[in-house]
Amino acid sequence: MSPIAEPHVSAQEARPLRGLFVAGSGTDVGKTVCTGALLRCLRQKNVAAQAVKPVQTGVRADDVATSPLSDACVYAKAMQGIKSMQGLQPSAVLHCFELPASPHLAAAKENKRLSCRSLREDILAHWRAVPARALLLEGAGGLRVPLNDDEDMLDLMSMLGLPVLLAGGNYLGGLNHILLSVEALRHHGLVLAGVALTPAADPAMNCPGVDVAGLLTDNARILRKKLEGMDCDAPVVELPRLEKLDWSGWERLTDLLRPIALQMDLRWSEQGQGSPELLEEERLIQRDGKTVWHPYASATDVPSLNAVSRTFANRMVLADGKELVDGMSSWWAAIHGYNHPRLLDALHSQAGRMPHVMFGGLTHEPAVALAEHLLDLMPDGLERVFFADSGSVAVEVALKMALQYQQSRGERQRTRFLAPRGGYHGDTIGAMSVCDPVTGMHSLFSGVLPQQLFMERPSCRFDQPFDPTCLDDARRMLTEHGKELAAVILEPVVQGAGGMWFYHPEYLRELALLCRQADTLLIFDEIATGFGRTGKMFAAEWAEVSPDILCCGKGLTGGMLTLAATACSRQVAEGICRDGGVFMHGPTFMANALACAVAGASLDMLASGNWRKQVDDIELALREGLAGCQGLPDVVDVRVLGAIGVVEMRDPVNTRALQQFFVEHGVWLRPFNHLIYLMPPYVTPVEDVAQLCAAVEKALHMGVYLP
Ligand code: PMP
Repeated sequence: MSPIAEPHVSAQEARPLRGLFVAGSGTDVGKTVCTGALLRCLRQKNVAAQAVKPVQTGVRADDVATSPLSDACVYAKAMQGIKSMQGLQPSAVLHCFELPASPHLAAAKENKRLSCRSLREDILAHWRAVPARALLLEGAGGLRVPLNDDEDMLDLMSMLGLPVLLAGGNYLGGLNHILLSVEALRHHGLVLAGVALTPAADPAMNCPGVDVAGLLTDNARILRKKLEGMDCDAPVVELPRLEKLDWSGWERLTDLLRPIALQMDLRWSEQGQGSPELLEEERLIQRDGKTVWHPYASATDVPSLNAVSRTFANRMVLADGKELVDGMSSWWAAIHGYNHPRLLDALHSQAGRMPHVMFGGLTHEPAVALAEHLLDLMPDGLERVFFADSGSVAVEVALKMALQYQQSRGERQRTRFLAPRGGYHGDTIGAMSVCDPVTGMHSLFSGVLPQQLFMERPSCRFDQPFDPTCLDDARRMLTEHGKELAAVILEPVVQGAGGMWFYHPEYLRELALLCRQADTLLIFDEIATGFGRTGKMFAAEWAEVSPDILCCGKGLTGGMLTLAATACSRQVAEGICRDGGVFMHGPTFMANALACAVAGASLDMLASGNWRKQVDDIELALREGLAGCQGLPDVVDVRVLGAIGVVEMRDPVNTRALQQFFVEHGVWLRPFNHLIYLMPPYVTPVEDVAQLCAAVEKALHMGVYLP
């Protein structure tokens, strides 16, 4: 252990939030009464539940305990005749605003801004501070009630991930609101714990002569049938609307809601003991071990795994409820974080319209709009887009484009590719052939892989003055082999999986000139570097160089679906298609409409330009956070560029031990070989970047990386 003081990082709080969210299909649909009755029912059973109102509006903070408009007063009434519990109040209000309006307006009136992130933090802090077994969190109004201009109650609910009791108004048109609310809950992956129907004060308003009682019963019947059709066994409870809620009224409601309360209590006790969930997770991992093969892993000596049950923003929640700060963006892809509402919305609306059609002989708006948008963002000179289904396939397409281009202009001898050492381009045969010959495991496939040419890795660091001799080997190879080359392929500025190496952009300018002189094509693989990761939209911008062919993928859909694209210049496209030529590639799922729609939404988000500040802030936080790693034993180099941070170690690290350590410390990082690297989603707050870096530094201090 090093004598340097340990950086501050604690293993994440162990107790995951337990409870129920009570939401309404609108206002005045019995949400508060349901919460009160559930509280009563649970407290009668001696369950330490507490009703919590994260945001109360229409009440002054001083009056929260006494005002008849405060939900806390309703909860207090619900507790009539129930024994109090030592150390645990029946209810709590976390934020209180005087204006009787939607939370965003009421807060703004008092110069405050609510956000899902801070409300969630407040709820978790409250949960940790009280000796409750479960919290009954009551929303405000319906699901889509705004908390600020961008976020609403449903966003908060999805971050919390608790089961939801939906209180709905049983009246004409009420079923419509309830079913739409159920649909929204399901689209957000939330579990429905039950539906409680309450009639309006005058359910038959404006419809004289109608059999209102029959109509209300039919609402409940239809609702049960619909839920059954969704394979959802949540109970539907019909509650009376009681004009006077006295002791016996509360008892009646409590009786009616008891099945839901008991079901929840069972769930909490299972979670409390930890065992069933843990068993569930263990079982999943065992099933996985018998059937599934993981990346770069053995099928017999199975790798250590963590089961993830949900994600949101820059967080992953494991099956046991443990929450991790994500430092990997799921291999460069989830640039906007997880479950971003705009991406989900694009997915759902496209899914409803047309999930996929073949692309031969057909086209569609999402694909065309995406191609137009991509070409706008890419370096000048790229004019055609070919959609592929993964990064490796996009690279295969690029290689085939270069080969067909050379054939079509009569340069049939140009069948080889030149690539720098230390590169990585994917795992299919063609892509592998241009990966670094050592780390790309060429020896495993010798005799099968096409024999390509390799030049020295661009040795001049990004942050050092340019040294022109770093191109000597490239010059030599292009002079000696120029006539055999279909193209030179490389990752601009950042070599990713082949070593997380950042090199000088001037290298690319000089290399582009050498390619022109050798009359060969230049291919940029921007699958990892594209879409802002290095601080530029595409890394080619660092050098102001336009390649003949450019591949992108990963962050293209914001990490939600698999999609990649290969763009080429007019010269390449026209060359291939000269004299009736066609390009010989066409995957089944080419230009998948769902993926294109999501990618379109992701590019729209990037177009706002917010990513620049986010990436700048992350870069600064990485520089500060990783500074302490420099000079530690076995650390060879620490480097940061854009939203990428790298700690390079002398020897390969103990990935299994580090992964376990990181999970224990509430972060998700997966080092490989001799690299511990961080590339968090752009939405990551700087405090979370600090937590990621602190975990790395602590692991180094403690020697966790050692074999
Ligand atoms: N090229 C680069 C630069 C990459 O980083 C990757 C993926 N790590 C690929 C190609 C291959 O992409 P995919 O995994 O989507 O096939």
